[in-house]
Amino acid sequence: MEPRAEVLLAEPRGFCAGVDRAIEIVERALAKFGAPIYVRHEIVHNTYVVNDLKAKGAIFIEDLADVPPGATLIFSAHGVPRSVELEAQARGFRIFDATCPLVSKVHVEVAKLHKEGYEFIMIGHKGHPEVEGTMGQLDGGIHLVEDVADVARIQPSQTEKLAVVTQTTLSVDDAAEITAAVKARFPNIREPKQQDICYATQNRQDAVKLMAPQVDVVVVVGSQTSSNSNRLREVAHKLGTTTYMVDSAEELKREWFEGKKRIGLTAGASAPEVLVQQVIDRLKHLGVLSVRKLDGIQETVKFPLPKGLKLDGAGQAKLSHLR
Ligand code: SF4
Repeated sequence: MEPRAEVLLAEPRGFCAGVDRAIEIVERALAKFGAPIYVRHEIVHNTYVVNDLKAKGAIFIEDLADVPPGATLIFSAHGVPRSVELEAQARGFRIFDATCPLVSKVHVEVAKLHKEGYEFIMIGHKGHPEVEGTMGQLDGGIHLVEDVADVARIQPSQTEKLAVVTQTTLSVDDAAEITAAVKARFPNIREPKQQDICYATQNRQDAVKLMAPQVDVVVVVGSQTSSNSNRLREVAHKLGTTTYMVDSAEELKREWFEGKKRIGLTAGASAPEVLVQQVIDRLKHLGVLSVRKLDGIQETVKFPLPKGLKLDGAGQAKLSHLR
């Protein structure tokens, strides 16, 4: 590292309101009902968060058959297909839904337009739980496109009533390109009033676009499974800046920073600030002298919690240091 090297911190970075709410739901359920609490899928895609909640008594499962009768079950922030919701109800679990309200908004839109006879084109990544959850709102009639080439391949049964929806954590630029291809093929397609890509995804990508040209190397804190963290890595990479994504400070390598003067640092929406601070500590150990916060949007979004999770003072005291 160059002498007097500095870290430029992207703003905003890290936790969004949907992640914050999802983690709080699990922690409140643990405080109120005691361990174990079952969670369908990783509550958010971050190794540190998942391990922290596991240590407190959360059990992460993919198959509802692994949840004992009478247990408390939480759906992850990514949302679930209707079939999972119905199965969970039929099995009689005490259910809390930590689906991000911005994902639920897409589910509601899909259900409403389906009743009016619409078919859908969904822009998203195959196999991502959010995409499975949104596509699973209907028994069919949602055509997934992952890239521009897919747009030519799909075969809706009609083109009179078509609507487009997107995964909330896509690259804003890639989604715009795919949407343009969709509109070129289906000029009458209905678009959402407000884009489905969420404010947090948009703001974090904008912050990286501001930061990346000012630095020699970018570090994104986020897990490999985190869609929005991967998109931050891609955004910085596309701007020509060498970029690394790490799950923790231990993954940083001294040679990444040799001869570098400015290091850009950001974190995906599911990565806690404690990991960012650990990365800063490690970079200081490697020779960074100062940390400078960049200007950016101050987010004030806060989503209400589901009913049934009020805590007394002792319960409140058990809530985490994570958020
Ligand atoms: Fe919700 Fe966006 Fe956060 Fe996903 S990234 S949980 S959609 S606010």
